Formats: sequence, structure tokens, C-alpha cells
Amino acid sequence: YKYDAERGDRYRDDTRRPSSEFATLRQVDSRSSEEAVESPARETKNDKTPKKMTKTAILKNLPPGIDESAAKQIFNDIVVQGDEVHWSDIAGLEVAKNSLRETVVYPFLRPDLFMGLREPARGMLLFGPPGTGKTMLARAVATESKSTFFSISASSLTSKYLGESEKLVRALFGLAKALAPSIIFVDEIDSLLSHRSDAGEHEATRRIKTEFLIQWSELQRAAAGREADSKLNSRNEAQRVLVLAATNLPWAIDEAARRRFVRRQYIPLPEPKTRETQLRTLLRQQNHSLSDEDVEKLVQLTNGFSGSDITALAKDAAMGPLRSLGEALLYMTKEQIRPMDLSDFELSLKSIRPSVDQEGLREYEEWAEKFGERG
Ligand code: ADP
Repeated sequence: YKYDAERGDRYRDDTRRPSSEFATLRQVDSRSSEEAVESPARETKNDKTPKKMTKTAILKNLPPGIDESAAKQIFNDIVVQGDEVHWSDIAGLEVAKNSLRETVVYPFLRPDLFMGLREPARGMLLFGPPGTGKTMLARAVATESKSTFFSISASSLTSKYLGESEKLVRALFGLAKALAPSIIFVDEIDSLLSHRSDAGEHEATRRIKTEFLIQWSELQRAAAGREADSKLNSRNEAQRVLVLAATNLPWAIDEAARRRFVRRQYIPLPEPKTRETQLRTLLRQQNHSLSDEDVEKLVQLTNGFSGSDITALAKDAAMGPLRSLGEALLYMTKEQIRPMDLSDFELSLKSIRPSVDQEGLREYEEWAEKFGERG
């Protein structure tokens, strides 16, 4: 198949990934020396003071079957990322945002309303070209749904943690349940659930995949059980865990795994309107002299660009006013630097090109047509 490993790598843009493979966002209260982890599920009861579960308490009282060092590993790789992502930070993608609100955010905030027929899905896949905002969406969902966010890159599971990975996967799901509502975000899910496997798949990789699917099935069973008896709700509320996955290579996911993602949301390249929103947001950060017509022209010139291509372009263009100055810039005041203009962008456009070509795009569109929801 023409999306071979090399090409796959090209589609994978690792430079923007969080530096840690396991990052649970926002959930560590940095003011507390005890490293308290807030469990939002516990706040929803009439109880005004949110109870905090400390890391030590969780580690002392680990659910059965969870390896302590694996649990520690997950906690230790927690990253407190100050910069939360909100819906408004993401340009466009209204359909995807609405779908995520309905699938995750509202059910997590009002579990009592989302039972029975409204029981939310346990798995959602975000797919599309690289750099279109899939990771941003996942982070925004975590912020807006006030849930514990576990973020893991599947390729690190199958490389860095190989050998320990099965234990880690069990610990991941176990902690997600203990700290529910939780979102397990798996980036590059294709590298975990691919079908290229059969011939010569690494034995260890196959075991991780199996463990992942077992753990995930258990979540789905728990959800089904709850559907059968809604009175169990309060006890099972803690089991609200969603697997949210992202991929640039949706066709690499095997069929059985694909079917488990009840929702498959296409995250396409940005429309002109979305590019305009993003460009205007970026331009607000810098002194510039672009007119409305210039921005309009830029919107046309960036046809085929992804969100991350646009960011890269704007950053490069912003260097324009400095480049011609050379060392002189060291002695100039900020006010003496000329504002950036359209010519800076035009120059940068020579080197910064869209990372997805027309042919690549067609593959996404076709897959979306067959297996996805548009957005
Ligand atoms: P993906 O996970 O789809 O590969 P990301 O969510 O990591 O892409 O986005 C990469 C970067 O591109 C972001 O940090 C942001 O700068 C920019 N970007 C992508 N899509 C958007 C968008 N819709 N709105 C604003 N910025 C975006």
C-alpha cells in the first residue's frame, strides 16, 4: 500500500506532541503540597466541598490488579500544563466541537441525563490530516468536561514502554476509572491497532494491543450493564471513562478495532473562513500592516494548508521584519522594527508549503465518506 512506513512518518508530525508520553492535564493542584488530584465526579453530589484524592491515597488503595510501579509511572509522568485549551482557541471545526460536546462534555457534566438510550459512546475517533487540531480538540474536551485527562502516544507504548506496556495499560485504565470521569486520549492510535500486524508483528506489540482491547471492552460492558439497570447509576458513575483517539492514518486501523469506535469524526483541512479566523488570531499577536484585502488574499494563498501549516507560515513571516536587519536588530528599539506585511507572507510561502498534497487529501475524503462523520 502506498502509505508505507516512510510516508506514514511524513504524515506524523511529532514536533508538537507533549514532551511526556503520559500527561494528565490540569488535574494536579499545584498549590497543594500533597499533590492532590481532583476527582470531579465527586463534586456533583450535593457536597459543596470537592473531595480531593491524594496521589498517596490512590497509590495506597490501588484497585486490584494494578501494578504499583506502573501506577507510579503514570503519576510521575503527569504534566501540569498551565495553558488550558478552550473551544474558542480552536478555529472552525464547529461540527466536531458540537459532536464532542454531545458525546463527552454534556454526559460527563450531567451523567443523570445521559442514561438509557442516551448512554454515551465509550470510544470516539478523530481522524484527518496531521496538524488539523485533533490534539487541541482532545485537550479542550478535557478542559470543558472537567475530567481527568490521560494523554498517551500509542507509538511510545509500543516502543519506549515495550515490556512494561501491558502493566501500564492495565494501570492506565484502572486509574482512569478511579479518577473518573476520565478521558484516555491515545494519539497515533494506528500504531497500536493496525492490521499490518499479522505477518511478523512483534509478539509484545500484539500483547499490548490485546490488553488494550480487553480493558476497553470491560468499559463497554460496564456501560451496557448500567443501561440495563439505571439504578446502578450512582455506583457506576465512577466508571465514566471515554477512549478518545486520534490518527493521521485511519486506514491502518484494523476493521474490528475500527468498529469499536462508535463515533468517527473527520477533522478536515480548514475551510477559507476557518483559515481567516486563525490568521486573524495569529496576526493579533504581532505588529502588522495587513489590510482586510491582504488577509483575504492570504486566505486564498493558503488553500490546502492545515492549521499547523498556517501557524508555521505566520511564525516564519513574523521573522521577516527582523531578517533584513541582521545584527543591527540588537541595537534597535521595538518601535523601530517595521510591522510585518503581506510581502513577508509571500516570501515565507516559497518555503512553507502544505504538508498534505491533493492525492493524500483524496484518501482522507474517501475514508471519511465510507467510515466517518463529516465535520
Ligand atoms: P493534530 O493533532 O491534528 O495533528 P494539533 O491539534 O496538534 O494537530 O495542532 C497542531 C497545531 O496547529 C496547534 O498547536 C495549533 O497551533 C495549530 N492548529 C491546528 N488546527 C487549528 C485550529 N483549528 N485552530 C487553531 N490552531 C490550529
